[in-house]
Amino acid sequence: MKNDLKQTAVTSSVSFVNLSELNPSQRQAVTTTEGPLLVIAGAGSGKTRTLVYRVAHLLEQGVAPDKILLLTFTRKASQEMLWRAGTLLNDSCNRVVGGTFHGIANMLLRRYGHHLGFGSTFTIIDRADAEGIVNLLKGSLGLTGRDKQFPSKRVLINMLSGSVNKSIALDDLIYEQFSHLSEHVDDILNLERHYREFKFNNGLMDYDDLLVNWKRLLQDVPEARQEIAGRYSHIMVDEYQDTNLIQADIVRLLAHGHDNVMVVGDDSQSIYSFRGADFYNIMRFPKIFAETTIIKLEENYRSSQPILSLTNDIIRNAAEKYTKTLFTQIAGDRKPCLFAGRNEREEAAFVIRKIGELQAAGVDLANIAVLFRSGFHSYKIELELNSVGVEFEKRGGLKLTESAHMKDVIAFLRLHVNPVDSLAWNRILLQLDKVGPKTARMIADTISTAADPLQALVEYPSGKTWKEGIAKLAQLFQDMEKESAPGVFYELVMAYYQPLFEKIYRDDFPKRQKDLDQLKSIISGYEDLQSFVDDTTLDPPETVPALQGGDTERLILSTIHSAKGLEWDAVFVIGLAEGRFPHAGAGVGEQWEEERRLLYVAATRARKYLYLTYPRELMTPDRQFRRVGMSPFLSELRAGLFERIDGQGGQGAKLPFRPLSPGVERPLPRSKGKKKISMSDLKKGVRVKHPFFGEGSVQSLGQGRSVDVDFERHGLKTLHLDYAKLTLL
Ligand code: ATP
Ligand code: MG
Repeated sequence: MKNDLKQTAVTSSVSFVNLSELNPSQRQAVTTTEGPLLVIAGAGSGKTRTLVYRVAHLLEQGVAPDKILLLTFTRKASQEMLWRAGTLLNDSCNRVVGGTFHGIANMLLRRYGHHLGFGSTFTIIDRADAEGIVNLLKGSLGLTGRDKQFPSKRVLINMLSGSVNKSIALDDLIYEQFSHLSEHVDDILNLERHYREFKFNNGLMDYDDLLVNWKRLLQDVPEARQEIAGRYSHIMVDEYQDTNLIQADIVRLLAHGHDNVMVVGDDSQSIYSFRGADFYNIMRFPKIFAETTIIKLEENYRSSQPILSLTNDIIRNAAEKYTKTLFTQIAGDRKPCLFAGRNEREEAAFVIRKIGELQAAGVDLANIAVLFRSGFHSYKIELELNSVGVEFEKRGGLKLTESAHMKDVIAFLRLHVNPVDSLAWNRILLQLDKVGPKTARMIADTISTAADPLQALVEYPSGKTWKEGIAKLAQLFQDMEKESAPGVFYELVMAYYQPLFEKIYRDDFPKRQKDLDQLKSIISGYEDLQSFVDDTTLDPPETVPALQGGDTERLILSTIHSAKGLEWDAVFVIGLAEGRFPHAGAGVGEQWEEERRLLYVAATRARKYLYLTYPRELMTPDRQFRRVGMSPFLSELRAGLFERIDGQGGQGAKLPFRPLSPGVERPLPRSKGKKKISMSDLKKGVRVKHPFFGEGSVQSLGQGRSVDVDFERHGLKTLHLDYAKLTLL
């Protein structure tokens, strides 16, 4: 069936992909199918759209789907792009190879890593694991007790990772950026060697190794280079401004022989230099690939003119920029709003009330996003949203698999696919009664270096007090050997781990249990355990707060970094206060400029409505309140580009809100001043009003103080009287 489709695409003379939906420059980028191509353009100018059309166009021209490689910043982005390409053409797009640099590296290294001496069952470790190993090595190399000044594991990993991602030799990086620690340079180099050996011996790779080893395969192993570079005839990269030098080298090596590479990017949106990304990559591209065709896109199709005027002004002040000022044909008469709340509470109240207004004006909840600099900036809003019962999804911040109990469970699964992973052995051995760090290390070392680790565990000469624990553990792995479905592995592991879990996390295990339940449903969706284990580090799910009801329409709360490339009808950028944005530690120079670009990325996500907000007062770490002004990036903006709303009037109800458009409801009043509702006021059919959901009637009274209300606009919701601000009508 799939072959038939491919055949249709190849032989068909009718063009399915409608290129008239593109402007002339975009069309040129799509139809230039051979040779190097650089599209450099501002936000919302259709770079990503051009890539989508180009994938479809290439397939239509007869290029086989598995010859096309699409590299994106997140896996979700490539999935969505290929899905969209599929709607333009047919489902042959599903077979295009798409993913992140790290994801593709993982796939290729499992297949070709043997050229570098790696087995196909290596495990990918995250930053916490990497720090754990470095700490362990610090201890075993005698670098902790002797000299308290030796850098912490966090700083050490920053150094090691910085050296890889910025392509600077480790000792040079220490002299340049950590000169106060240069007396330790020999010890750090020695530690790096041991870290590398440890990973190799235990079948582990950290994120950086994935890139480094991919590059090594291409550069140092002619056989692998030929095979890998021969796999893809057309390479495309989105968000090129956020690639680093190794990634640029990989692209160069991959395109060896054909140079059919298209990269798209916007230097004004480069926001990952703290991870070694280098937006000069864009400028270097035409030098690396001779005869590059450069295409600039200048029309913005995303935002209305008032929003675009403001975002152009944010970037106007940037010290360095190459892309030009954008124009749009989307007129719009709504200027962006700037709101200053008395404090974070008032800022949150404003956002929530505006969301209610937007919904009343017909904007879907899923078309609204609240963006912020750092994960913790949204806590106040999260509390408020929970209290009014608005569903939201938070993106960015802590990942589900980063917590200790999740790492515990994943360690068992990791060991099943890679039994020489002594880090994982160490973790689960430490859970046993009467086994301390020293014993755990000893056992882990023995079994992870044995020819048959499981047999070595069974035969380990256990001490009297922990013999039984080891026997149970060995039994678990023997039982796992007989199974193959990931869901079954989870059940087996939990049967063993549950009692330990309740003991280790005595204080809060019920709360943590919810994560484990989520893990269960995630793992059951996988066909093989290796892919699940890979994803727990490569593409881990983010924590999603407990949701009410089954409605899938959710407000998006996101860090700006996780909002890259996306767009919404309405965008709130919160926390734009002095000291918070730019980040307090940003200093001047490059970091300051990166913060400005971050604000540019945030504001350019908006299609029709843009709100910039900040609190006039912030709590300091020592719980004092401090008055703050607005972000310097806002004070730089030209007057007249936004409308100011001031929140000095106290609680939300008195704020001078302006209706969004004629006929739109005034802000919904808070319950303050109204009679507080009690259970005795409620019975089936009683009419009530909720500040967010609007009007509805009571369906039934539930357990405790909960009540089911059928809202006219939002359907049935279960609310708790202590939190939901219901009023009687
Ligand atoms: P960013 O820099 O934020 O990643 P981008 O340059 O990748 O932005 P896209 O996301 O591809 O821009 O496009 C922005 C919006 O404009 C999308 O909704 C897209 O569908 C629309 N768009 C782009 N080009 C056109 C066009 N020629 N006609 C109609 N809509 C377009
Ligand atoms: Mg894009």
